[in-house]
Amino acid sequence: MSITTRTGALGREESFARDARVEYRLVRNSVVRDVRTGRREKVDVCDAHPELMRAAKNVGKPTGESCPICDSNETVEVTYVFGAGLPAGGTCPATAAELARLRGREDPVTCYAVEVCPGCGWHHLARRYPAGRNPTRPRRRRQP
Ligand SMILES: [Zn+2]
Repeated sequence: MSITTRTGALGREESFARDARVEYRLVRNSVVRDVRTGRREKVDVCDAHPELMRAAKNVGKPTGESCPICDSNETVEVTYVFGAGLPAGGTCPATAAELARLRGREDPVTCYAVEVCPGCGWHHLARRYPAGRNPTRPRRRRQP
């Protein structure tokens, strides 16, 4: 297991242990609290990239929760998948079946589920998790 720092799908810095599932709910709630108390501006958290907004509108999966910022739209979840053989910027599966196919790949992949408000542009990384048939081990292991 290694700790690396990289720029995530949203262009925000994040540190993580590569093979672990990570939930970002506490961070999200802290950001929402900061906006509500005026410590952060809405424009700083409602700045979803046009590509992410398009994905949210076209392939976003409804979360059943209203947007914590504008409170007038339901948020959706968009998942990006990164891994060997996939585009450098990740791929955004259009259907649940396509996502399931990517998660079932032989090669390990890392999935980033992003919460997005198609109305105001609020977005936050919800969770990151490894997938692929053998996500925690090297693909080819040589016998000694
Ligand atoms: Zn919103």
